[in-house]
Parts: sequence; C-alpha cells; structure tokens
Amino acid sequence: MKDNTIINHNREIVTVCRQLYHKGLLAGADGNVSVKVGDKIITTPSGAHKGFMQEDDLVVTDLTGRIVEGNGTPSSELAMHLAIYEADPECGAVVHTHAPNALALSVAGTGFDTGRLAEAEMLLGEVPEAPYAPPGTEELARSVASCVDRGPVIMLQKHGAVSRGRNLMEAFCLMECLEHNARILLMVEILENRRAF
Ligand SMILES: [Zn+2]
Repeated sequence: MKDNTIINHNREIVTVCRQLYHKGLLAGADGNVSVKVGDKIITTPSGAHKGFMQEDDLVVTDLTGRIVEGNGTPSSELAMHLAIYEADPECGAVVHTHAPNALALSVAGTGFDTGRLAEAEMLLGEVPEAPYAPPGTEELARSVASCVDRGPVIMLQKHGAVSRGRNLMEAFCLMECLEHNARILLMVEILENRRAF
C-alpha cells in the first residue's frame, strides 16, 4: 500500500501535468515532471500524454534511477532530472516542457533577456542555455547540470526548458513565468521589428 505522502505528491503531479498541457506548454507525450521525496523520485512515465495521465501511471525510482514502484518505464529524461537533484541538494521538484514561446526565442537566437522585464528579472534572474545534446541522453543531463548554479530555469538548446524548485508548485510557477514573459518578449520583438521597416 502506498503511503499518504506519495499519494499526495502523485495527485499534485497529475494536476500540474494537466495544467502544463492545457496552458500549451507541452503537446502529446512531451515533457516530464518529477518530485523528490526523501531518497525516492516520483516521475512521469515515458510516453504518457500529460493531459490524460493518471496517478497510477507514475513511477517511483531511487536516486540512481532504479525502479522501486510502478509498472511503467520512467521518463526518458530521468537522467537529466537525477543530475539536477544531484547538482542542487535543495531541489525538490523538476519540470521539463517544450514551452513554445521561450523555445522560439531560443531557436531564433534572440535569447531570453530577462533584464527587459522587471518581474522576469526578479523571479527568473539569468536564464542560461544548456548547449545542445540529444534528448534522453547522459550528455544532455551533463549539459544541463553544468548550468544549475546559474539559475532555477535553464533553456535546452533546440529542445525546451527545465525549471526546478524546492517543491513542485515553485518549479511549475517558474516554468509558467518563463513562458508568460517569453510571450511578452516575442511581442516586443515583433513590434520593434515592425517599427524598423
Ligand atoms: Zn523534451
């Protein structure tokens, strides 16, 4: 039988995944979410649609990624999550999405200049970009881990974004903040370019 702590976290993960899906931060089986509980990690399973995922679909692993509970396969980005938890002992939750506006700025090479927006600068600080590595690889995990000490939100080159927090709500809010401010910066970019012609 599952203990109440795990059940509560499972409920929260499912709620957050549905929010991420409905806010358009990920599509289909994109993205992954995890929460650290003591020496265990609760993670979304590989291949699950985050808008329809159920609590029973979640997988529990130890800090090395070994499955200790659940029938599915852990997220294909589990190595990245584990590397973040290792690099930041204060981290209690990790959210990875393909936030479209933030990713568009990143792919266009415009970057994410938080200095242009007061709240973004205050909440996000610097948003570093981890050099490209193929999704689901140890190489990507190392690339992201090397940026952890620069800020709580990291862009993944050509791929998406990852946020972390002391708890899931904090990590979710940072991801939401990234995408909301990226949308504003994208509109600023369009208006400024229009003025230039
Ligand atoms: Zn991804």
